[in-house]
Amino acid sequence: MSQTPLPHDHGDALGLVLEHMPEEEEFARGAETFRQLGDPSRLRLLWLLCHCEDCGINLAAALGMSHAAVSHHLKVLRLNGLITSHRSGKEIYYTLADTETARLVHRMIDDLFRLTCPTKGL
Ligand SMILES: [Zn+2]
Repeated sequence: MSQTPLPHDHGDALGLVLEHMPEEEEFARGAETFRQLGDPSRLRLLWLLCHCEDCGINLAAALGMSHAAVSHHLKVLRLNGLITSHRSGKEIYYTLADTETARLVHRMIDDLFRLTCPTKGL
């Protein structure tokens, strides 16, 4: 990143940090990931999907939500790459994606709730 001269001279700290600043697109992707976590219902659904795989109908029943609402959240999470789905017979099953970002989100959610991961050791 090219250095813009800073108006005030307070030492090198800000300039040194700026040399390592990620590109704007990376911040945009990061903000989008955090936006996915910004809805309590979606966060509950994502927490379940961090720890198991199931169909939209069971997930809706487990969360006490309408199937339509859960389907909407599942679509958003899938389009953003945090979960994956696969069809088996008439059912579509959902679970956390096998990506670095999804694993990071999983750890973050477990840590946020000071939770021992329920699938640890399974
Ligand atoms: Zn966990």
